[in-house]
Amino acid sequence: MTEKLSLLVPMYNEAEVIDPFFRRVLPILEGLGLDWEIICVNDGSQDDTLEQLWRWHERDGRIKVINLSRNFGKERAVTAALDLACGDAVIPMDADLQDPPELIPQMIDLWRQGFDVVNAVRASRRSDPPAKRITARLFYRLINALAETPIPSDAGDFRLLSRRVCDVLRSMRESHRFMKGMFAWVGFPTTSLTFERTPRAGGQTKWNYWRLWNYALEGIISFSTVPLKLASYLGLLAALIGLSYAGFLVLRTLLFGDPVPGYPSMMTAILFFGGVQLIFIGIFGEYIARIHDEVKGRPIYVIDSTRGFAPATSGQPSAASQQQSEM
Ligand code: UDP
Ligand code: MG
Repeated sequence: MTEKLSLLVPMYNEAEVIDPFFRRVLPILEGLGLDWEIICVNDGSQDDTLEQLWRWHERDGRIKVINLSRNFGKERAVTAALDLACGDAVIPMDADLQDPPELIPQMIDLWRQGFDVVNAVRASRRSDPPAKRITARLFYRLINALAETPIPSDAGDFRLLSRRVCDVLRSMRESHRFMKGMFAWVGFPTTSLTFERTPRAGGQTKWNYWRLWNYALEGIISFSTVPLKLASYLGLLAALIGLSYAGFLVLRTLLFGDPVPGYPSMMTAILFFGGVQLIFIGIFGEYIARIHDEVKGRPIYVIDSTRGFAPATSGQPSAASQQQSEM
């Protein structure tokens, strides 16, 4: 039996790049000597991404389409594809050709050598503006200092995952999905290869700085509880300083009386600790909000319709039953 490769492609308003994408990817897949499928997820696009995907599905049945009921974000779109993928190896990649499909044969080679995860790591960030380069470097520094599982720097979601990695990922149903961290959490023999990331083939990035900031927060809070511990340590330190200062005040009053100074130091202390307390209430809030979301246990995504997937009898759950079981 020949092995099968699944390519998972989330698409949000990518009408401009769909044709170039398939024209570049299809010849590479045909050259692999493997069975393959491409699972495209329309993540609530407002342009004609979906119609174009249907057209491509008509041309080649191995191009399969999942249409989500609205925009769920890239992480959840990839999860939908991951749930329905039946390949022995799975590669999530972006639609905008920033992840060069020419790397796929090398990834397959490394997978055949026995690696379960093959990361594609960016050789440089030359195609990024300087501000993004600096913030990215800071982010990876910080998250690797805080998270229990190291997260490889400059690796996007473009990577090969073996079937057993996929199965573990499918069992991780958290609704806050920081994929880079989740991939790294699974473990198994991992290797990486480097590539040069090019600018988008067309269309626009959906990431502005506000979204990147939230993404960074998501990563840190989903993968680390260090910010919570900070409150205890800072509190301890403040209590110790406060205690020694109180001792000093008592002594000074006993020795020299009390000429009523201290308004500036009192205000400073009140304002400073008021600020610190609010910051930590905010941090607790971030964690509680996530607990709230997880406890609701909602499905990670909702499928509107699919094309190209076998009905439930073939062993692979159909989109409909999948969705049911998620509810
Ligand atoms: N994407 C998606 N849903 C979203 C945002 C993005 O499915 O809400 C897809 C998008 O179509 C693309 C991939 O995720 O295939 C990466 O998006 P983008 O190129 O905007 O991110 P960048 O490459 O700038 O990190
Ligand atoms: Mg991109």
